Amino acid sequence: MVKLSSFLVAESVDSYCADYVDGENIEAVFDMAEIEESLAPLNSIEDALSKLIDSHGLNRVERIQTNLTSDEAMAMLEPGDILVDCTGCKSLLRDHLCSGPQAGNTDANTFNIQLEYAIVVTFVYSRQYQCNEYCKYYKNAENLSYKFIPAVDRTCYDGNISFVSGIVNITPKDYETMPGTFDGEWLRLHFPDVARSMDRFIDKIKQETNGEIIGNLDVVRIPLNLYRAHNATSRNWLALEGTDHPFSRSPVFLVGDSALGSPYFQSISLGLESAIHLAALIGQRNLPLADMFNRYELYIYKQWLRVYMRSKMIKHNKDLFENIDDPLRLLELLHIY
Ligand SMILES: Cc1cc2nc3c(=O)[nH]c(=O)nc-3n(C[C@H](O)[C@H](O)[C@H](O)COP(=O)(O)OP(=O)(O)OC[C@H]3O[C@@H](n4cnc5c(N)ncnc54)[C@H](O)[C@@H]3O)c2cc1C
Repeated sequence: MVKLSSFLVAESVDSYCADYVDGENIEAVFDMAEIEESLAPLNSIEDALSKLIDSHGLNRVERIQTNLTSDEAMAMLEPGDILVDCTGCKSLLRDHLCSGPQAGNTDANTFNIQLEYAIVVTFVYSRQYQCNEYCKYYKNAENLSYKFIPAVDRTCYDGNISFVSGIVNITPKDYETMPGTFDGEWLRLHFPDVARSMDRFIDKIKQETNGEIIGNLDVVRIPLNLYRAHNATSRNWLALEGTDHPFSRSPVFLVGDSALGSPYFQSISLGLESAIHLAALIGQRNLPLADMFNRYELYIYKQWLRVYMRSKMIKHNKDLFENIDDPLRLLELLHIY
């Protein structure tokens, strides 16, 4: 539910481009017609998802538990099939999409930037809660390190309670020592400095709004990576002569985190947009396969440019914020010219 509430689904082309972080980048990279094409079904999908959630499971979705290997996935392919890999950040087939002897090797088709390590803290709060940049600054006033940064504009208030997510930057050593998931108590016991920052921040929210945390604090430690597939389709395999590799006969597309990944609460909507774009391309029955490949590759590349610029800017702003109490360090980070 928290994740759904975090959808960055824009309601109109205007609001899409009005994003204060990357509005101009979007206009610079995309044609308006492209944005309109992508947004039209996004709104109806958001609406359908909201209804699905409200209906509390009346529309049942069947889940088949399986752990497919790449060989099994390839063996399933019949001529004429289209394979869409949406297996997430550790994509099953991403590194198989570079043709030639490197195919299948780790990172053969992956470009990755390790931005930082972080914990993501999520909790439910009994009041409406919003936090702008001033609020983030004053609530972190005594946190010289491990500043707690709540997700602005991604906090969801459903009329009674708020779903809040926040990020705390941690060191690579902290990351190595922490388990994958844990709760607030574990953090207090094993990483008191990190927990103190988090608790100071949350206490200030409580003082301001007289609310309470409902349930536990859920904590996940994650590497915040910015990555993309060099090839988001099997077009290189298709162009290869004299091979009977399954990808030279059946088109493969990467969708969602398989194709590209970014931190800072912006991935779900990106993945949905790529799925919708691909569905629209596949729906054009007369579109030659080569054109479909090229258009999807170009689309993913533009999404990559957009999310790369946006993520680097957020990371830079985060670095400035982390050092806001140290003017000399701040100046070192500015790079004015
Ligand atoms: C802690 C955390 C918080 C996040 N918060 C946000 C947020 O607030 N907003 C946001 O936009 N994004 C957020 N994200 C990112 C978001 O979760 C992902 O971008 C999104 O889930 C990607 O969707 P996906 O369908 O591409 O892949 P996934 O959700 O990863 O789904 C991949 C599916 O493929 C299955 N699979 C993988 N390999 C195989 C295999 N070999 N055989 C069979 N099945 C397989 C997996 O089991 C899984 O069900 C967060 C991520 C994390 C870790």
